[in-house]
Amino acid sequence: MIVFDLICQSAGHRFEGWFASSEAFAEQQRRGLVDCPHCGTTAVAKAPMAPSVPRKGNQLPVPAQSSPVAAGLPPEALAVMEKLAKLQAEALKQSRWVGEDFAEASRAIHYGERAAEPIHGQATLEEAKDLLEEGVAVMPLPFPVVPPDQAN
Ligand SMILES: [Zn+2]
Repeated sequence: MIVFDLICQSAGHRFEGWFASSEAFAEQQRRGLVDCPHCGTTAVAKAPMAPSVPRKGNQLPVPAQSSPVAAGLPPEALAVMEKLAKLQAEALKQSRWVGEDFAEASRAIHYGERAAEPIHGQATLEEAKDLLEEGVAVMPLPFPVVPPDQAN
C-alpha cells in the first residue's frame, strides 16, 4: 500500500488516499473513482510534497571549524567578495602570522615591548574585546585565513 497526500481542485481540501500502487492511483483517478471526502468532487490531484527533513545518516559531515558562508548571492556580489578575499590575502603578505599568540603579541606591540609590525592571527571574541578595551587597534578579518602551518 502507498499513501498519497491529495488535494481536491474545487475547494483545495487536503486528504490522504491509500492505493495499491502509484499506477493504481493514476488508474482510479482517471476513472473518477477518487473523490474528495469533504465535497465529493472527483477533481483531485496529488498535493505538493512537504519539504522532507534530512534523514540521519544522510547528513553532510559538519566541518570541525566552521567558516562564514553565504548562499544565493548574485554573481556580481560573488565577484566582489572574491576580489576582497584576494585583497585580504595580498594585504596579509605584509603581515606576520602569529597564530594563537595574537592577543599577547598585539598587546606587546601596543605597549612598546615588541617592535611594531603588522600581525594577524587567532583570537577569541573575549580576547578581542579585552584588546579593544585596552585601546589596542584590532579588527576582525572579513575572510577566514588558513594558518601557514596548515596550508599545503
Ligand atoms: Zn473537496
